Amino acid sequence: MRSIAVINQKGGVGKTTSSVNLAAALARAGRKVCVMDLDPQAHASLHLGITAIDGEATMYELLCGDATIEQARQKINDNLFVVPSNLDLAAAEMELASEVGREMILSDKLAEDPEDFDYLILDCPPSLGVLTLNALVAVNEVFLPLQPHFLALHGLSKLLRTIEVVSRRMNSRLQLSGVVLCMYDSNTRLAAEVSTDIDQFFNVSKDAGKFFRNAKFFDTRIRRNIRLAEAPSFGQSIFDYSPDSNGAFDYQSLAEEVLSQELADSQMEESDRSAIFDNSNPARMAA
Ligand code: ADP
Ligand code: MG
Repeated sequence: MRSIAVINQKGGVGKTTSSVNLAAALARAGRKVCVMDLDPQAHASLHLGITAIDGEATMYELLCGDATIEQARQKINDNLFVVPSNLDLAAAEMELASEVGREMILSDKLAEDPEDFDYLILDCPPSLGVLTLNALVAVNEVFLPLQPHFLALHGLSKLLRTIEVVSRRMNSRLQLSGVVLCMYDSNTRLAAEVSTDIDQFFNVSKDAGKFFRNAKFFDTRIRRNIRLAEAPSFGQSIFDYSPDSNGAFDYQSLAEEVLSQELADSQMEESDRSAIFDNSNPARMAA
């Protein structure tokens, strides 16, 4: 199973659009996918056509109450599920303030979930509070959507440092595995310049530690496309709302890159294993 938190401390960069449409594309490719909505604004839930009904368990009851993942999860189709949120979740920050181990709640609940998924995709709020921390402790991977804006990298080093600290102290499996440019205008010079800056930023960061080692700057750029902005109000992914749009094409292409990482991952595990068992490996012998 791959578990991916979609994070950026800025709002409006494409986190929710990417979480939902990537999840929908992976589900169409036959993977079993669950979207977890960690934003009290509930945009991912609404985008998938789910409005929380009174009395039904949501992410709030999961984190602040006794609900299990199974109770809170809702089915969109055979391959696509969601754990929805609603505005109640805004109270989590305060309610959990004095709770010991509050960053581990989601991870613990996931460990108790009997259901198997190929992908968990966690749509995070635009902040680094207790909700995002729960996501970072629960997943193996971080995807970072960026808007090609001249301030795109502003504040990013701080965000990445914070995530790296979490990876050192609370979740050693955590890796930044993908950076994706959203709302890309291919005909503006600014977009091209900013993507070069971002490229350089991540090439430098790669030397900075384990957390960045496998970071991939996806070749797919999600172009600005009005259909992507319209789809949420119909409670549909881009593939249901406008399957022939550029938006559907771009998220399909992103999903193919994400799926190709599966292959790379299994090959890497293979070579890791052979390194471990290879006694002629001097580094191993010395260790
Ligand atoms: P975040 O979750 O980071 O706050 P959203 O995914 O909600 O960002 O996107 C912010 C707004 O921009 C939403 O109204 C969304 O529909 C719109 N949007 C996102 N991606 C695109 C795109 N590629 N083209 C056009 N509009 C987009
Ligand atoms: Mg959002």
